[in-house]
Amino acid sequence: MGGNELKHVQNAFEANWIAPVGPHISNFEKKLSTLSNGFEVAALSSGTASLHLALILLGVKKRDRVLCSSFTFSASANPIAYVGANPVFIDSDIDSWNMCPILLEKAIEDCILDNEKPKAIMLVHLFGMPAKMDEIMKIANKYDIPVIEDAAEALGSTFKNKPLGTFGSFGVYSFNGNKIITTSCGGALICKDKYLVEKAKFLASQARDNKPHYEHSEIGYNYRMSNVCAAIGLGQLEVLEERILQKRAIKLFYKDQLSSIKEISFLNENEDSYSNFWLTTILLSENSTIDREQLRLHLEKNNIESRPLWKPMHLQPVFKECKSYVNGVSEDLFNRGLCLPSGTNISVADLKRVVSKIKELYEA
Ligand SMILES: *Cc1c(COP(=O)(O)O)cnc(C)c1O
Repeated sequence: MGGNELKHVQNAFEANWIAPVGPHISNFEKKLSTLSNGFEVAALSSGTASLHLALILLGVKKRDRVLCSSFTFSASANPIAYVGANPVFIDSDIDSWNMCPILLEKAIEDCILDNEKPKAIMLVHLFGMPAKMDEIMKIANKYDIPVIEDAAEALGSTFKNKPLGTFGSFGVYSFNGNKIITTSCGGALICKDKYLVEKAKFLASQARDNKPHYEHSEIGYNYRMSNVCAAIGLGQLEVLEERILQKRAIKLFYKDQLSSIKEISFLNENEDSYSNFWLTTILLSENSTIDREQLRLHLEKNNIESRPLWKPMHLQPVFKECKSYVNGVSEDLFNRGLCLPSGTNISVADLKRVVSKIKELYEA
């Protein structure tokens, strides 16, 4: 926590707004809108719920095809299954680790030949790193397919100085406990179109029609953010900038300190991208004498938790029947990559200890 969260929560309690409605929610939405180029914002119960509503608002239905980044957390793909649509997984490009534009276009062409033009593209900005937005938006526009940007890990990241989440038809953020800022659990759907965001709020509040009694003409969801969570979020937004700078400093520290180990490389920004570096990730070289599990277990033995990168969706048992366009990149990243301890409350002493334990293994 940043420090002022409890003050905002206290304020919510004093006002007695302990509900999925209240002034802290609208305030949180307003502040988030300012960070997102003035886009309209619906504060929701999770990032997953936000992705689900984005698909519903795009009219994605049973048996429709949705192209989805394969290299991601399952929460990007699960909402596609919620609406009964079929995900088609697209592998990564080597520079951004995100959706490969070449495979994306190939998949679209094939779907069109099958008479199954994709209804949406679920594009993920993994670990805070922007995807190749110029190429991807050009393809999406060429074929007129709406893009949902899953920016759950990428709040505060930009591409050509434009916030991630503001390129596609919808952007989604997550405020789950593990994200760069948190409301304990929570998420947000952003969109330029005021009407669509109003509709999202309506669906998220059980789709209650404007009548004195409870009248429903549509299926609703209980997806609104709690006012208490929004109060936490107001405190967290105050420290977002600081958190991004801390995350970037952590990445830079690891990169500097480990530069002598030729077998370890880092995911880097290009001149257009600015990453919040939600997690610092490393990649072991193909001919490294030490493999990812050896390094992970060595750290674990020293009471240091590190984690493999996300296991691609096309390799997940639950999605094994789904179509995929694979070039081997994400599987290779999964095999050779590791997330290092990146929490913003980590001390310099602990960072140094992680570095020394990694060096110890390579210099042994
Ligand atoms: C965390 C995350 C989500 C889901 O967000 P929740 O708020 O946890 O539901 C979706 N996509 C990605 C890439 C994430 O990391």
